[in-house]
Amino acid sequence: MFVDIAGIHLKAGKGGDGAVSFHREKYVAAGGPDGGDGGRGGNIIFKVDDNLSTLADFRYKRKYAAEDGQNGGASRCTGKSAKDLVISVPRGTLVRDKETGRIIADISDDEPIVIAKGGNGGWGNMHFSSATRQVPRFANDGMRGEELDVTLELKLLADVGLIGFPNVGKSTLVSVVSQAKPKIANYHFTTLTPVLGVVSMGEGSSFVMADIPGLIEGAGEGAGLGHEFLRHVERCRLLLHVIDVSGSEGRDPIEDFDKINKELAVFSSELKDRPQIVVGNKCDLIEDEDIEKLREYFENKGLKFFPIMAAIAEGTKPLIDYVAATLATLPPIKRYEADFVPEPIVTAKKNNRSFKIAVRGGVYYVEDAEWLIDVMNKVDPDDYESLQYFERTLRSEGIIKALEKQGIVEGDTVNIYDVEFDYVP
Ligand code: GDP
Ligand code: MG
Repeated sequence: MFVDIAGIHLKAGKGGDGAVSFHREKYVAAGGPDGGDGGRGGNIIFKVDDNLSTLADFRYKRKYAAEDGQNGGASRCTGKSAKDLVISVPRGTLVRDKETGRIIADISDDEPIVIAKGGNGGWGNMHFSSATRQVPRFANDGMRGEELDVTLELKLLADVGLIGFPNVGKSTLVSVVSQAKPKIANYHFTTLTPVLGVVSMGEGSSFVMADIPGLIEGAGEGAGLGHEFLRHVERCRLLLHVIDVSGSEGRDPIEDFDKINKELAVFSSELKDRPQIVVGNKCDLIEDEDIEKLREYFENKGLKFFPIMAAIAEGTKPLIDYVAATLATLPPIKRYEADFVPEPIVTAKKNNRSFKIAVRGGVYYVEDAEWLIDVMNKVDPDDYESLQYFERTLRSEGIIKALEKQGIVEGDTVNIYDVEFDYVP
């Protein structure tokens, strides 16, 4: 069964806890704190695998968890960071946040993308020693990993999409212009899964054509014309609208054409305006003058019309040449941008970022600022950029300014919840 939409739960690993430990040496009663940091929790990463063409795997396994980081140990031993969990998906998979529907990522290119971040490890007590606090008996816990429900949605990457009623000859057309071999038969519901064919133009140039199930295939009574398949042509730069000019099965090709365009418009206004070329198939079944009438009809609408006989590949060469030339003038295949979301800690605590400054024994204490503990938990003390982020936060929240107001000068000690450092302006 073809599956192109799935919901799964992701849980990145928790960071390991920082350790509380003291250096022990012969003849030394109590050494300094030497508890190491916890390791980072595993990320959950998504990556393209071109051997996959559906999301079927996700119907059976719905929960994905990366491992937790190891706790820190004695003797400044840092806990091992957990391995990332890599999830393979077909090219063109959109990852959305289930709750809000916002796009998190479009997994269409080769670089892997982190979807759920593992938590940072907690700081061991080795970071908490200071002149005033010789025996820090605490360490930070590791941060929790990100946890979220996502919806995966496959939107194939193809330059050209074939649309049309069932049995008009879409699969036949793909099979004669590319290496793809979709099922062809004189009954409906032949094509149940989209098929991608590479149309080679010689000299290394080629384009990708998507054969999707006919637009009423698979849709129940009154359920529309198979909307669910339209998402696979959503990214196509150009649509080939195939009609059966012979009007077999008691249908009228022009009526068919209008019906399908109406469906496109209902599905998305973008798709409605996508450039279209009309392909009149089964020309062997009608008279030349009737073909010319159809040509006139579509050309009057400003549409290019190509009469073909897909079954014997008649007329397909000029069609393909025209398609290639048109593609050269069109923008590249759409990539979806992630929807912007502000940093969670900023939104959660924005209105409540108060603090107090107290000076005791020459040390400047930043107090009543529980929110800062969250910030510090995210800071990696061994990472320069991370420390810069911390400093920026102190600055943007007005803490540095407040310290200066209290008269702090270079080299004075700042203490924020037992993390001490020297003030450097
Ligand atoms: P799809 O449902 O649109 O993918 O249509 P198919 O490609 O499966 O073709 C449906 C039927 O039309 C098959 O029996 C084909 O052999 C037949 N067919 C395809 N092209 C032509 C053509 O040029 N002339 C005639 N007479 N029949 C064709
Ligand atoms: Mg077909």
